[in-house]
Amino acid sequence: MLTYIAVSIVPLVMFSSVIFKATENYYVEERKKELLNQANIFAGHITISDYLFDAEKKGEFDEDIENTSTEGGYRTIVVDSTGTVINDSNRTETGKMYLIPEIIEALDNKDIAKLQPNGSIYAVASIADEAGQKVGAVLIADMPSDIAEKMAEIKHQVYVLLAMVVSIVGCLVFWFAHIITEPLNKMMQVIEKIADGHLDQRLPVKQLNYHEMEMVSQSVNDMATKLEQVDSSRQQFVSNVSHELKTPLSSIKVLSESLLMMPDAPKEMYVEFMGDINSEVDRMTEIINDLLTLVRLDQKEIPVNFVNENLNKVIGDIVKRLQPIAGSKNINLVYDEIKDVNADIDETKFTLAISNLVENGIKYTDDGGEVKVVLDSDHQNVFITVSDTGIGMAEEELSKIFQRFYRIDKTRDRETGGTGLGLAITHSTVLMHNGSIKVSSKENEGTTFVVRIPLVNSNLK
Ligand code: ADP
Repeated sequence: MLTYIAVSIVPLVMFSSVIFKATENYYVEERKKELLNQANIFAGHITISDYLFDAEKKGEFDEDIENTSTEGGYRTIVVDSTGTVINDSNRTETGKMYLIPEIIEALDNKDIAKLQPNGSIYAVASIADEAGQKVGAVLIADMPSDIAEKMAEIKHQVYVLLAMVVSIVGCLVFWFAHIITEPLNKMMQVIEKIADGHLDQRLPVKQLNYHEMEMVSQSVNDMATKLEQVDSSRQQFVSNVSHELKTPLSSIKVLSESLLMMPDAPKEMYVEFMGDINSEVDRMTEIINDLLTLVRLDQKEIPVNFVNENLNKVIGDIVKRLQPIAGSKNINLVYDEIKDVNADIDETKFTLAISNLVENGIKYTDDGGEVKVVLDSDHQNVFITVSDTGIGMAEEELSKIFQRFYRIDKTRDRETGGTGLGLAITHSTVLMHNGSIKVSSKENEGTTFVVRIPLVNSNLK
């Protein structure tokens, strides 16, 4: 508020004082011209009437001087060429020498009008005889009190105006300051609540007066929504993990309790139950390993180490490694290398990502089906397509399958041994390679995943 007042009032005050000075100067200059003009008229009249040299006209001369001076409100003094006062409208100086600088200047050089230190104006015009000789001078001395009065009046008006402007600007500024700070205060209150953990609080967006504030509020709201999502997905994740680990633990508990309650159980039963317990422990280990991988990917604990590799070979190795699993299900695993491609990848992570896709293809395709891996590229990206002729997925599932622990058919997937973490790992890994993954699928017809990764990646982030 102070800044606004300083910016608007100070220049106004400075400006008006400059205007005052200029106006005053103008009035004084005009008055000087007027007085000099009057002095000249007088000088001409004195010459024509021959007042200086005709002693008989003294009375007429006196009257003339007095009348004109009274009329004009000033004092008139007439001196001869020696500076002796011949006539004075005040009658006090007659006969005395009156050689002030202005008179000397007028007699020597040219007519002059000058403002005196006490505020009066002296205008002196020389009197010339018919031959053009300077024979005297007329001095008009005026105290222009009317100018001072005029100036005082102008100043008064300007100051009243200034006071009005100051109060109007002050009120406006106060009002604006209030309008600007009020929503900010409200925003602060809500933001503080959000910071305290009340993530459901939101700022009013439409009630704010400014576009910028609307945008800030919208951003804060978006941030709070994100925080809420993160919070709920964290809770969801913890509950999923607990649930996933609880199921094998319950099985182990049931199996071991049954054995404990049957001290005379036959050896075959022990072997069978221990086998089941063992596979439940394997499953828990698998879940925990997948979780650890994901957590490490999230924390970026394992730095991405891009090395230019021949992808034909890397993917060929994956296919070769998974060929026996496909073979055991009588699935035809095909590898189609359309181009010879080299790209910057982190081989371990890349292998994990593509293996998950191929393993899924084999897992979710019935005996006798086909899983096909295609390697292709353009001048910027490499495209790895993994398609199968398997059970496929419904359209509405496609957006969810990359979520952690998301499995479409829990009972069926438990049999196939999935943890629901494979695609989450693949997704994170592809993002780390600055790529993208797309899925299309039709129930009972098959699924196609397309992974795109830029050919060039840099280790420097
Ligand atoms: P999982 O370990 O259960 O396979 P994923 O994260 O790899 O977990 O996959 C999530 C879910 O997506 C799977 O449970 C499965 O229902 C579905 N899915 C993944 N790949 C395929 C596929 N090729 N065909 C059909 N369904 C698939």
